Amino acid sequence: MSANEPQDPILKPLLIGNHVFPGIWQYMMPKEFLDLSFPAEERSSCMNCPKSCLDGFRPDYRCCTYLPRIPNFLLGLSTEVGQGFAQLETIIAKGLATPEGMNGTPRQWVDYLEDLEEDAFGKSQRVLCPMLDTATGYCRVHAFRNSVCSTFFCIKDHGKKGDTFWESVQTLGSQVEMAITHWAMNQVGFDVESYMKRVNSLSKKIKKVHVKGGGWSNESLRLLWGDWYGKEVDFFLECAALVKEHRHLLWDIANQSEIEEAKKFDRAMVKSVPKKLADQLDESDLDDSEGETVAPEDLWKNCKRSYEKLWKLKPQSYRLSKRFELKKNKLETEIEKYHKDRPYYVKKKKESDTEDHLFLRQDEFEVLEGFQESTLVDWSFFARDNVKALANPKDFISRIYSQKILTPVSD
Ligand code: SF4
Ligand code: SF4
Repeated sequence: MSANEPQDPILKPLLIGNHVFPGIWQYMMPKEFLDLSFPAEERSSCMNCPKSCLDGFRPDYRCCTYLPRIPNFLLGLSTEVGQGFAQLETIIAKGLATPEGMNGTPRQWVDYLEDLEEDAFGKSQRVLCPMLDTATGYCRVHAFRNSVCSTFFCIKDHGKKGDTFWESVQTLGSQVEMAITHWAMNQVGFDVESYMKRVNSLSKKIKKVHVKGGGWSNESLRLLWGDWYGKEVDFFLECAALVKEHRHLLWDIANQSEIEEAKKFDRAMVKSVPKKLADQLDESDLDDSEGETVAPEDLWKNCKRSYEKLWKLKPQSYRLSKRFELKKNKLETEIEKYHKDRPYYVKKKKESDTEDHLFLRQDEFEVLEGFQESTLVDWSFFARDNVKALANPKDFISRIYSQKILTPVSD
């Protein structure tokens, strides 16, 4: 451990399996979260990003061409590590710091939608996260990323089941973050209800709340910050100190705190989107309901349900689906060359989308080849030497089952 490395676990990345979450997740999530077995997500190999090798993403930007909302308390905590203070001052200078944390403007959101429309996500610098160190490709707030950044995998190993699972974790994380954000604001003496009214008051001039560079105008920021304008760093530090002090209560706090929304402003923001970009809006953008927000406890139940489905594999016989074929990696195409360390792959016979090809190591190929014949998958299968030798046998078998590469054999 280097002399400058923080000792406090809340400031350090949290490793669960082979996934890195922000340190605060061990406090703000339910205890059982730490015992989950997460899918390996081998295909989202970020430091050798398949999207930059095969889909034209800039290798220095990759999927960081968007502006994540980073909660106030995470910004405060990030100042305790490395260049945290300088980073915080940079985002304040760019007009991206609101009392809720780092938050882009409606203009920047439209820019992002424009990138999607023009197939420029991952390539354009219209919206580039200021926390990205483009020289190294590293995230400057890796241990303090928000829930979206912490759970994003561009290609899911477990297909749709993986999508549903990670989406449920992301929703839970975002809801908990939002509840703690508002709790911290209220504790600091910053009344969230009246803050939301001020946000809503900006809806009348939604196209004028930003400056040329995209960030919030000084006039907007003065309104949003009120008496705290000019004291943003102190504010974020106070939020972080509260969270550190109450770390063992964060899950209860998240479940017992109200989340306020600026619905009027959100609606105006959606309305400000030019018609030509309407197709880029997703369901959640268009959700206009005034209903109560779902409690984290209920979202957690949802996570557990999707988790069970992810790993559910009935002990019975399976075989390789007739719709799939095993191929040798001849190192001819771009994707074959990208996976040069994997001598085989499995693909749908009629599918040309290379993103769905599953490249296999030699030992994975040998196990999968065995499924040319009907094979009983029960405990004794996992006790076989060649199966035990796989890096993560359960993950591999559930993954190929989720992708319908294996099909159950009826008696
Ligand atoms: S998640 Fe982002 S960085 Fe990681 S592999 Fe996918 S596009 Fe690349
Ligand atoms: S916070 Fe980090 S991971 Fe998230 S978009 Fe920014 S640089 Fe990328």
